[in-house]
Amino acid sequence: MKKHNFSAGPSILPDFTIKNTAEAVVNFAGTGLSVMEVSHRDKEFMAVMDQATTLFKELLDIPSGYQVVFLGGGASMQFCMVPYNLLNKKAAYLNTGTWASKAIKEAKFFGDVVEVGSSKDENYSYIPKGYTIPADADYFHITTNNTIFGTEIREDLDVNVPLVADMSSDIFSRPIDVSKYGIIYGGAQKNLAPSGVAFAIVKEDILGKTDRPIPTMLNYKTHIDNDSMFNTPPVLPVFSALQTLIWLKDQGGVAAMEKRNIRKANMLYSEIERNKLFKATVKHEEDRSVMNICFVMNEEYKELETAFREYAISLG
Ligand code: PLP
Repeated sequence: MKKHNFSAGPSILPDFTIKNTAEAVVNFAGTGLSVMEVSHRDKEFMAVMDQATTLFKELLDIPSGYQVVFLGGGASMQFCMVPYNLLNKKAAYLNTGTWASKAIKEAKFFGDVVEVGSSKDENYSYIPKGYTIPADADYFHITTNNTIFGTEIREDLDVNVPLVADMSSDIFSRPIDVSKYGIIYGGAQKNLAPSGVAFAIVKEDILGKTDRPIPTMLNYKTHIDNDSMFNTPPVLPVFSALQTLIWLKDQGGVAAMEKRNIRKANMLYSEIERNKLFKATVKHEEDRSVMNICFVMNEEYKELETAFREYAISLG
């Protein structure tokens, strides 16, 4: 029986990704070498990077003026790269959970951070609404899917300043209007590939507006100008990412993924609502994530939590 890792990440990857990656570990593209042994400058790997970038753009319908880069350092490195590259004086952040708080902490090294809204008061069980973004903010940062707390912003917000989004755990889960964003970033290990690679979709004209010198590796421009090959990229995760992108296209792309995700989420949420053992942790239905469904045992059944876990594990 194939077991299902119910966690948001590292997450279950398509069999297609796993099988092709396993094969490439042994014999990559018929080279007789492992993908871990070839040079990233070999034509076989250059083709992988090229296809991954192209397919990434195609699947998300990324307009011209934007570049996609694959980077090391995970989404956490983006918490620092975003302000390093964009924050002159002031940035606005929405505090919707652990990851948003970590992004806020990093931004404070670079300038004023205005927390325009926070749901910390209620253990991040809702998405704050009705906030005002200062017109002089260099950008507004959101975490679209709050992996730990199970809330999600499922619309592309219209805001008065460049919008930056951490989409680590909902990228490719629905069609997005990329034109509404300045930067979208995330770690790959939720929806794309094994850990070790992060992605960033960068609107080129928002760069170059800070006065501070930016270290080479932390400058988006370095990676854009070098097609994600400035230094040795994480070849194995990038290879895996390409497999998932091919699989996504074959499944009907992000529109098909959205339908599938909603169907799965509804199935689970309706059982949680129906079943007296459980309760969903997110207050308002409209804030509930379709990516990771957070639930706990109701108070009166709390002592069954271990038994429930063991039962679920026994069923794979
Ligand atoms: N942002 C979100 C929404 C996440 O779920 C995670 C989880 O790992 C991170 C950021 C941190 O990513 P990384 O471990 O790639 O730095």
